[in-house]
Amino acid sequence: MSVEQTLVLIKPDGVARGLVGEIMARFERRGLRLAALRLLRFDEVLVARHYAEHIGKDFFPALKEFIMSGPTVAMVLEGDRAIEIVRAMMGATKFYEAAPGTIRGDYANHVTRNLVHGSDSPAAAAREIPLFFDRLID
Ligand code: UDP
Ligand code: MG
Repeated sequence: MSVEQTLVLIKPDGVARGLVGEIMARFERRGLRLAALRLLRFDEVLVARHYAEHIGKDFFPALKEFIMSGPTVAMVLEGDRAIEIVRAMMGATKFYEAAPGTIRGDYANHVTRNLVHGSDSPAAAAREIPLFFDRLID
């Protein structure tokens, strides 16, 4: 088995709506291992780093305001094909395209406030994880 790590965020809407346990339970039941976990609040520097690829897009101001609006849960999940598994469990970015049975398909109803983030490639995971964790438990 090739162990892969991915950064997962439960965004401020997920925390505010009391969906942290529900979302984490789904990942745990799927067999993904929790390798790191913390609660934090995004500041301007972290937004610019984490969402660097989206700076300048029309939705960036709304995304920035939202992601800084309250606490976010950050975790590293680990397992064989963890990146693809998490992306599939999250569902499509746009809530109205997310399939039932996915996190967004079951709970999201807004384009920006879509509950979760998951790294979209091994390169993204390698870049994102150190933004939130300087050391992982092994
Ligand atoms: N987003 C938005 N409007 C859009 C596209 C994206 O508000 O038209 C927000 C949404 O919160 C999304 C985040 O920006 O999760 C990052 O966008 P990305 O395309 O990377 O989607 P993701 O990887 O989260 O599915
Ligand atoms: Mg993305």
